[in-house]
Amino acid sequence: MLAVAVIASGCAQGERAEVRPVHPAPGQQPLKGAPARALDSYATKLRAAARVAKRWGLAGVPLAPPAPPVRKPRITTRKGFEVDGHEEKGLPPVFTTIPTKEKIVFLTIDDGAEKDPAFLRMMSELKIPYTAFLSNYLVKGDYGYFKDMQDRGVGLNNHTLHHPHLPGLSYARQKHEICGMQDIIERRYGKRPTLFRPPFGNYNEATLRAAKSCGVKYAPIWNEEVFVDRWDYREWDREIRPGDIVLSHFRGRGEWKGTMPDMIRRFLNKVTAEGYAVARLEDYL
Ligand SMILES: [Zn+2]
Repeated sequence: MLAVAVIASGCAQGERAEVRPVHPAPGQQPLKGAPARALDSYATKLRAAARVAKRWGLAGVPLAPPAPPVRKPRITTRKGFEVDGHEEKGLPPVFTTIPTKEKIVFLTIDDGAEKDPAFLRMMSELKIPYTAFLSNYLVKGDYGYFKDMQDRGVGLNNHTLHHPHLPGLSYARQKHEICGMQDIIERRYGKRPTLFRPPFGNYNEATLRAAKSCGVKYAPIWNEEVFVDRWDYREWDREIRPGDIVLSHFRGRGEWKGTMPDMIRRFLNKVTAEGYAVARLEDYL
């Protein structure tokens, strides 16, 4: 059991792991050439990762995240972001950061207007995890694109049917927007989301009550937003912190001055330069 855990975390450490000499068990027959082969394949992997990073125009090889936590952190609503009776009613927590000491951030991408095949290839080749929040009016023209995304291991989550300003709507209308999207994602992709992000990050008590009523467990918002040409920050000091949730959007040249890969380059170059790895949000929830 212990051996399995060690191997699993060693794999997840990926390129960051150090190569330490391993001594054979007493009396074990030496396996000639094996250590050399192990080192060789490690070096080959490093070279391959560097090639992929270069091919996508990155300044450096993205850092590998640590293994997912065995015990998940307790997620609570960020101070000042609560609605009336938030905790007593067991409403989904609203948060901008995952409590962790690891130098990791979480990438979340919203809406679904741009459907760029190069983006799917880039994220798969670089092995960068992210979480999608989809709004039906933008994705319904091509559900297949997001099926491809799901098949590559990306979680598809709820961002309403029509992207309204929810606090301006009645409970019934909000429920239609949120639970209607739960149903569509479940029907199209076979999995009912547990994550919901209110459009514009705006919500009230009715929003969270409606979301809870149809299976939502968490309402992650964000601490930073990355665009094709800049970063925006919620905090005055404009710093990335361990566990921060970063927002971006499925947009193309029509909406901002670049492509999805351009945005990802801006994102990865900064987080890598600051010593952060990108981890999967669902692994911490
Ligand atoms: Zn949105």
